[in-house]
Amino acid sequence: MRRAGGAVQGLGALGMTLLCLTACVPVAPSPAPPTGISSPQSPDAGTFTAGADGVGDALYPRAGNGGIDVEHYDLQISYDPPPNPSTSLTGRLEGRAVLRIRATENLERFNLDLRELTAARVAIDGEVARFTQDEGELVIVAAAPMSAGETFEVQIDYAGDKTVSDAGPDGGFYPTADGGVSINEPHGAPEWFPSNDHPTDKASYRFAVSVPEGTAALSNGILLDDRTAGGRTTWVWDAPDPMSSYLALLAIGEFEIRRSSAPDGTPIIDAIGAGVDPESYSAMDLTGEMMAYFEDTFGEYPFVAYGQVVDNDRGTALETQTRSIFGNGTTTELTVAHELAHQWFGDWVSPGRWSDLWLNEGWALYAEWMWDEHHNGVPVQATVDRVLLTGADAPEWQGLTAAPERDDLFSWAVYQRGALSLHALRSLIGDDAFLALAREWLSRYGGSTATTEDFVALAEEISGRDLSVQFQEWVYEPGRPADW
Ligand SMILES: [Zn+2]
Repeated sequence: MRRAGGAVQGLGALGMTLLCLTACVPVAPSPAPPTGISSPQSPDAGTFTAGADGVGDALYPRAGNGGIDVEHYDLQISYDPPPNPSTSLTGRLEGRAVLRIRATENLERFNLDLRELTAARVAIDGEVARFTQDEGELVIVAAAPMSAGETFEVQIDYAGDKTVSDAGPDGGFYPTADGGVSINEPHGAPEWFPSNDHPTDKASYRFAVSVPEGTAALSNGILLDDRTAGGRTTWVWDAPDPMSSYLALLAIGEFEIRRSSAPDGTPIIDAIGAGVDPESYSAMDLTGEMMAYFEDTFGEYPFVAYGQVVDNDRGTALETQTRSIFGNGTTTELTVAHELAHQWFGDWVSPGRWSDLWLNEGWALYAEWMWDEHHNGVPVQATVDRVLLTGADAPEWQGLTAAPERDDLFSWAVYQRGALSLHALRSLIGDDAFLALAREWLSRYGGSTATTEDFVALAEEISGRDLSVQFQEWVYEPGRPADW
């Protein structure tokens, strides 16, 4: 992710939606037991429990859910942009989500994340199921308990008005004058589809989005169809690569679609919002060259397609998988490189916990610096020297790179210090080991998630050195490391 102006600020006070007060105990037919959550369990035969209401992420405790693994999302969405945008930015979203889920525990009920939208009907394998909804949790009660390992299909019909006041710091889907746009990171997917909204649950996706004729709907992957009937166009997108829900994209509005391909043949589908100044996104012409450079450096591009959506409505860029989105003023050369690099670092290998975000942002920022050296002749060391002008007594050095507070998730400690940590590691272990580490990281954990501990262990394995002091100083402790 990158916000306009380059400076990535702390988010300030976060919304209260997920801070668990006594009122946020879900309405439920039986009390939720404390359970181990993310690992499959093998309880005694005949013991069925409630899936937990979160995967236990320290920064977002109720993100994702226990006892389930979503394998596929089939999302049928109908959206009407604000009818009178000059007076009210309110759009209307109606959806039918069909999720193929594998139980990882014996379940009598389970949760999905769904926020600011109302479920009207839920069915499991075609049978109507009981459900309740409270505080962002959709609690679904199975007519018959499900055993660990069993796969089932859940259909949820849901709807809601979308307003700009939904635009909280956790992310979401926001109406714009001509449509709407999603910025899911870190926990906004539940504002447009029922999801197991934690990076650790990757799934394939298919989107069928119905919008008024003349309006485009962009999503991840390959465009299968854009059929118009009765004054509406349905845009069908297939995203077969494993994807975390925070990387799903829905951008609706007046867009010009442009098709091309990268030097390696990867199809590229870009979408340019109506009225966006062409000069503002001319750096996107470098995308193919950037992709070739990152493939040479890090390994093959991991997905079926790429593309970029340029929209004037928000000042944020986000590395939505296979199709990054760029808000107002963010299509600079280095941010185009940043979001492309994220396809390897963040999208292909995703964070095991939100506190591991520096492995997304540190790598994407460092890849920017490498591109700047490769393409513009600006040495990485010169960029490092500039960032190191941040003096040892500056408050930026007090943030914890691998253990940020929730308010500091998108902070200097995660981005700049994250990239500096990688440079310091490179200086210590040498270029060859550093690049071998990057490639092995992507090959070993690609399509999945990994943690800071996994990264430290792999760096030690590749370099053959004990790096505990190095990482302690750089990512776990505050303060500018000695000798830097
Ligand atoms: Zn980023």
